[in-house]
Amino acid sequence: MEHPLRVDEISALEAPRVADAVSFAAPVAPLPPLPNLSASDVTFLRPSDPHYRDFLAAANTRTQLSPALRAVCKTDRAVAAMIAWVRSNGLTFAVRCGGHSYEGFSQSKDVVIDVRGMAGIAVDKASSLVTIGSGASLYHIYQALAGQGLALQAGSCATVGISGHILGGGHGLLARSHGLTCDSIEQVTMVDSQGRVFQASATSEVDIDWACKGGGGGSFGIATEFKLRVFPLKTVLVFGVTWTLSQAHAAKMFAAWQAFAPNAPSTITSIVKVQSAAGGLITVRCIGQSVGSEAELRAGLQPLLALDRPSTALSIKSLGFLDAVTHFAGTLDYESIYMKAKSDYVLGPLGADAIQHMIAAVAGASGVALLCDAYGGKIADVAADATAFPRRKGTQFCIQYYSSWMHAAATAAHIAHELVRRGITVAAGLATGIDTAAHQATLAEGGRTVAFLGTGINKAYPKDNEALQREIASKGLLLSQFWPDAPPRKPSFLMRNATMSGYGIATIVVEAGETLAVRFTNPENPFAAVTVTT
Ligand SMILES: Cc1cc2nc3c(=O)[nH]c(=O)nc-3n(C[C@H](O)[C@H](O)[C@H](O)COP(=O)(O)OP(=O)(O)OC[C@H]3O[C@@H](n4cnc5c(N)ncnc54)[C@H](O)[C@@H]3O)c2cc1C
Repeated sequence: MEHPLRVDEISALEAPRVADAVSFAAPVAPLPPLPNLSASDVTFLRPSDPHYRDFLAAANTRTQLSPALRAVCKTDRAVAAMIAWVRSNGLTFAVRCGGHSYEGFSQSKDVVIDVRGMAGIAVDKASSLVTIGSGASLYHIYQALAGQGLALQAGSCATVGISGHILGGGHGLLARSHGLTCDSIEQVTMVDSQGRVFQASATSEVDIDWACKGGGGGSFGIATEFKLRVFPLKTVLVFGVTWTLSQAHAAKMFAAWQAFAPNAPSTITSIVKVQSAAGGLITVRCIGQSVGSEAELRAGLQPLLALDRPSTALSIKSLGFLDAVTHFAGTLDYESIYMKAKSDYVLGPLGADAIQHMIAAVAGASGVALLCDAYGGKIADVAADATAFPRRKGTQFCIQYYSSWMHAAATAAHIAHELVRRGITVAAGLATGIDTAAHQATLAEGGRTVAFLGTGINKAYPKDNEALQREIASKGLLLSQFWPDAPPRKPSFLMRNATMSGYGIATIVVEAGETLAVRFTNPENPFAAVTVTT
């Protein structure tokens, strides 16, 4: 089982907990009276609701927010009523399906209009059409289709939501043989900003139909249902091969992959993953899927196999469609991780210099990978202006620069490290976790920190940070937001941050957690304190 996005093996025990990201939950501001909707239309979830946390996790914990209200909508009517309600009350909101937005565009501190209450899947085998509620996840769709011997071209992660995925394009291991997920759209049902419910297709609301095919979610309205064209598929070939190579050989292998992958028969879709390995070496792992013959697949991979001896031999297996989905999904559980990624579309083959530069950047970096998805094939059969997704003919591959980590403390330590490198003083409180990590990273780099205690200066709090506090105090860098010997008071992050701004030494406050993302502007020195959310 392998997940294309998994960079390092992660133990389930280590995975970030939802609580890590919400432990500093903000006091919730009173909401205006809620729209008059029945339980068959919507489930309202507020932080005090026992089921609130069941719906909270975002795939990227770095972006996770705790909304004052989540409205899990079950009908178009509920979506329209929620839109009218947030508009008339001037509330900020986000639309959420699977919660896999890399930058948390489905997260809001105020209101989340959540479409996961609409997740029905109706397969019409005779017409090869499937009607899907906009809150369904990819795996549930694959499962419903496989039961009828059908398949849909979509991404590898089981818990990605159909809405964000298809509205943004959608690339998966059947992309070169069957196109992008958005190429399967026959009709989208949508609710617009005025609460109007309408269908967009090739013959109706054609501009919206065009925009829904790769233009991105969260922009043109809230999709409530998709009608998609699907196709019969029983078995596929899944393959994987790894090389562990010097940088120079890895660069040659990458060049061989880019010559093969975008130009291979359209039956074959492959991904290459480049990571650092021990001893300054690089692993190059090529994985993928084919709906063609094994002989064709072996012939396609032959130039790569001839170049260097694999460290893990080529494996080719014939699997049923759903087994292939599970193989690449890695897990069917909802996983969350701290991550950051950016992508480029490569429109012509990269030169040797560019490849070497890229590989050198990956060498020695842990938790970092280059992930490249091959384009071409059926993706290129659609004209660049026929849909909102323009990366068609000529696009070679998409290159994703991906980095992930397990804990918020790692974010704080990383930011602290970067600040010290730029000669900037790091300021933070002394709470266990994030603040401690920022302090320790700063001291380890020989940087300056300014520490703030939420208690009287002569009290070590939290107790397990006593040694760190003593070290900071011995360097004359300890400040307290309270007078010495004052009795402990309820910690106020606002007060603490304001104090730091006031001192003017604190340039950047390293913190994590949504409610700490308060920006202070000191009119005399606008750079006095800027809170960095992690
Ligand atoms: C672990 C992981 C694996 C991934 N694997 C792949 C892959 O194999 N292939 C691939 O192409 N991509 C992949 N992606 C990217 C993924 O397709 C996008 O992030 C996609 O937008 C996620 O959709 P979602 O519904 O899960 O996310 P959400 O965060 O819920 O939504 C994403 C965006 O769509 C909007 N939106 C959500 N629902 C609606 C709606 N009903 N109407 C209108 N707008 C809506 C949101 O407001 C947000 O802007 C992966 C991402 C992750 C984190």
